[in-house]
Amino acid sequence: MEIKKRYTNGEVTILWQPKLCIHCANCFRGLPSVFDPRVRPWIRPDGATTQEMIDQVKKCPSGALSME
Ligand code: SF4
Repeated sequence: MEIKKRYTNGEVTILWQPKLCIHCANCFRGLPSVFDPRVRPWIRPDGATTQEMIDQVKKCPSGALSME
């Protein structure tokens, strides 16, 4: 079964599919207050506005990040 991790701020939920992630670093370079692979959980959806997260998720080249 494919793993999908969910991180919510109560308004939107970021989905991350580890199998698709190519570790390109776009997300944590672009929005380090939310994405930080050195800590767990590595996505903190309260670290930026919903719009900032939507914009960053769109820049994920592999499709590993999505929103619901
Ligand atoms: S931008 Fe997408 S593919 Fe790149 S490290 Fe982040 S989740 Fe993985």
